[in-house]
Amino acid sequence: MMAKKAEILIVDDVSENIMILGDLLGGDYETRFALNGKDALEMAVGGGFDLILLDVMMPGLDGYEVCRRLKSDERTLDIPVIFVTARDEVEDEAHGLSLGAVDYITKPFNAPIVRARVKTHVELKYKSDLLARMAQLDGLTGVANRRHFDEILDREWKRAVRAKSWLSLLLLDIDHFKRFNDLYGHPMGDACLKRVASCLEATSSRAGDLVARYGGEEFVILLPGNDAVGAEKVAEQVRQGVRDLAIEHAGSPVATMVTVSIGVSALIPTEERSSSRLVAKADECLYEAKEQGRDRIRYKDG
Ligand code: GH3
Ligand code: MG
Ligand code: MG
Repeated sequence: MMAKKAEILIVDDVSENIMILGDLLGGDYETRFALNGKDALEMAVGGGFDLILLDVMMPGLDGYEVCRRLKSDERTLDIPVIFVTARDEVEDEAHGLSLGAVDYITKPFNAPIVRARVKTHVELKYKSDLLARMAQLDGLTGVANRRHFDEILDREWKRAVRAKSWLSLLLLDIDHFKRFNDLYGHPMGDACLKRVASCLEATSSRAGDLVARYGGEEFVILLPGNDAVGAEKVAEQVRQGVRDLAIEHAGSPVATMVTVSIGVSALIPTEERSSSRLVAKADECLYEAKEQGRDRIRYKDG
């Protein structure tokens, strides 16, 4: 079921312990090691780990402190931590769990228990990753949903403010889609939305581009690093790309096939402005594109 082996970071200042755990788990998992808290934190930030086995008693940063830092860093807070300790007092266990660890294992190691607990938490991590990914997607089309788009827009906006770089956005709406549904039925309407969504993803395929379903038959494409000229170019490719799908639309007064109208906005974000401006501008342009006859793109300066 699992495509690749889960990656486990084993942290212990005593290399003998690392060897024992490495032997225990190396067959089923990809294991990597750190001999102190500082290295562990650096490796964890580097990414990719599904679980961290963390010794409590270490010189320098102890396990508790490492756990606290892992849980307060957005990049590492989702990695489950299991404390490994020789002490088995209830208070220690409670303290570790209060810091956000998911479990405890005690030294000397009991092999079946270590394997069982690790397996449980790796499986839970896979499930929660899967849920998190699903929560970002639109159920019908498989592109990003509105919620995920809002998150990414916020992130890209801040990034562009720092980098003083362009951020552009296309807001796209299928023309006369109500008539399409009325004529061909809702299931065909759904199939049309899927095909349009795939076309959008194929057309805006640069790393960092994001296609999302914004509403019923509205999509949004975020294009970091694109100025107005670049964005208009992509918009035109998208408009043509949807036409090229040649999805029959006999109810459309605009064309014989499904077409889209697109509002384009592009700006260099600043601290004073808000990201909603980018969407609002594209929305105004989309409205104009509809007014002016549909199956076209509109962009306005300012
Ligand atoms: P315009 O060219 O002005 O955009 O006209 P329109 O008919 O596309 O716009 P309107 O907003 O009046 O209608 C949108 C239609 O999209 C109505 C709604 O039934 C349909 N729609 C929204 N979401 C879905 C969906 O998930 N599946 C299907 N099949 N239809 C949907
Ligand atoms: Mg429409
Ligand atoms: Mg609409």
